[in-house]
Amino acid sequence: MSADNGIYILVTRDGFYIDHLQAIENLHWNDKKKEHTAELNQSMVYTMFRNAKVVHSEQKALDVAMKMHQEIMNDDCGIIEYGIQTIFGWQDRYFPTSCCENQIVMVNTEGDSICGNCGAYL
Ligand SMILES: [Zn+2]
Repeated sequence: MSADNGIYILVTRDGFYIDHLQAIENLHWNDKKKEHTAELNQSMVYTMFRNAKVVHSEQKALDVAMKMHQEIMNDDCGIIEYGIQTIFGWQDRYFPTSCCENQIVMVNTEGDSICGNCGAYL
């Protein structure tokens, strides 16, 4: 079984967003084409990184990432399959304030908050 996880640093116009995440390929999922593309998916950028730690220098971002890495590896069964990775593709844009332009917060039958417009988990 694969952990499929890593410490990811998303580079944006307003800072570096750092978090420990799984299934990062979802960032490249294109809803219209139903395939992965080079472009980043806004609702995935928003839902995956909205709880991330934000810093404003590359050095600080690396420090935070190393610390997160260390904390996980200190665990008995700590594993980080992809180590620390930097993600480009959003560096000219501000971090999104919502999953999509017409965010509608709804609760599905499982009790999860989702966007009624794009389907993102909020
Ligand atoms: Zn949405």
